[in-house]
Amino acid sequence: MDSFELIIIGSGPAGQNAFFEALSLKKKVALIERENWLGGVSLNTGTIPSKALREAIYSFYEINQKKSLFRQQGKYHPVFWSTYLLPRVADVVGAEKKVLEKKLSGFNAPLFWGEAAFLDQKHIVVQGSRQEVVLQAEKFLIATGTKAAVPESIPFNQSTIVDADHLFRIEQCRPPLAIIGSGIVALEYASMFACLGLEVELFVKTDSLLPYIDSQIRSYFLEILARQRVQIHYRCADWQVTEKPSGAQITTPDGNKEFGLVVYAGGRQADIDALRLQEIGVQLNEKGFISIDKNYQTSVENIYAAGDVAGAPATASAARIHGRRAVRAIFGSSGAEIHYLPVFAIYTIPEIAFTGPCTEELKKQNLDFVEGSAYYENLSRAAIEGETQGFLKLVFARDSKKLLSAQAIGARCSELVHLAQMAISYNVGIDYFLNGFFNFPTYSELFSLAAFAAAQKF
Ligand SMILES: Cc1cc2nc3c(=O)[nH]c(=O)nc-3n(C[C@H](O)[C@H](O)[C@H](O)COP(=O)(O)OP(=O)(O)OC[C@H]3O[C@@H](n4cnc5c(N)ncnc54)[C@H](O)[C@@H]3O)c2cc1C
Repeated sequence: MDSFELIIIGSGPAGQNAFFEALSLKKKVALIERENWLGGVSLNTGTIPSKALREAIYSFYEINQKKSLFRQQGKYHPVFWSTYLLPRVADVVGAEKKVLEKKLSGFNAPLFWGEAAFLDQKHIVVQGSRQEVVLQAEKFLIATGTKAAVPESIPFNQSTIVDADHLFRIEQCRPPLAIIGSGIVALEYASMFACLGLEVELFVKTDSLLPYIDSQIRSYFLEILARQRVQIHYRCADWQVTEKPSGAQITTPDGNKEFGLVVYAGGRQADIDALRLQEIGVQLNEKGFISIDKNYQTSVENIYAAGDVAGAPATASAARIHGRRAVRAIFGSSGAEIHYLPVFAIYTIPEIAFTGPCTEELKKQNLDFVEGSAYYENLSRAAIEGETQGFLKLVFARDSKKLLSAQAIGARCSELVHLAQMAISYNVGIDYFLNGFFNFPTYSELFSLAAFAAAQKF
């Protein structure tokens, strides 16, 4: 029987980064993957394909709607999905897979294909399509991520009624579109498909969207969604989906409507069913994710967990870091504690990004602050690129004038906020932005304009 110092289950961002970290520490480590691909939800069904789809749609949107020069050159046609959008997504995913495979092949490290299940605290069985192996390890890292949490009441046919994990398997995308869900995935898809010129309706249980982001950014985004003609049905939990020859029908207390495609993006759950965790005593939290402490250790001493399987923040960016840190914690090497300031991005059109607390949060903390905003419509770079929607808000402490947070909506803001992340982490004050050198014309100039707006208020 093969024996290892560490076995990692799952090859998504958490598992693969844990694997590389363990290899760099010269540990005897194995990686197990159930699917016949590497990279997890991130590379195969989530982050990369959805962002590749966004960029493909964006090129279409740019030509047809954004730049007045080309306005209304063409309209979306359903064959577009299979002839242009899906192939583009497949190209991007394929290229990313090659990068990952090349990286892995450089290590010549053991990779087992199959579904892992615990036999006891030190042994797992890996059930592959051709063979079954039992492996032993001193330590295990569970990085099995999540799967779409789907209600049994929906008659998924993965053609006209799909969950978010199967969107890229459908052959046709016919409007009108219904999206069920209020989270980031639902909003990203709603905004993308609306920018393709499709009629989109969003069905949400709650009475608000993105309650945790800055309220000014939220209001601005909702106005854009309205201009994109996304129709939002709030407080709508009482719906029924039925299959129809034309696609699907959604029935609510307000009536029936037929759609070409219904996408269910109503949440995710830990992908742990196959692992037989109950038998070895790994405890879950109240939301069904694996409970871990600050060192990623579960309730069982030699078993650790990282990434989405342990719950929030449930992003690939966090899972990558958590995977690496978990390995450092397991082997007692330095750097297991998290010291970074997170950056969050929501890839709607336009994108939303932020780092540091929003103004509502700062008020709750009784912090006295001064804010200044700069609008894309006043920016030369934005005019050149036809990206005039959006703004960047910088928030400074009134007493020290240090930057506390940056909240933004607009083109490339998911890149821009990293400058704020660095500035906050290194206690940079407003003078840096007032007197600093910003190339012209750039989007980075927003920092200087926002700082000037804030400086008037001190
Ligand atoms: C539509 C969508 C868009 C997203 N967009 C973004 C984004 O823009 N930015 C961002 O940061 N995040 C995004 N995310 C979230 C991101 O994809 C996840 O946070 C990330 O994939 C989590 O990584 P992970 O390693 O924890 O798990 P996963 O990526 O889920 O990987 C888990 C792996 O474990 C394997 N596995 C499961 N059970 C077993 C078993 N028993 N045996 C062997 N292998 C097993 C699975 O096959 C899978 O390969 C998005 C998610 C979705 C769904």
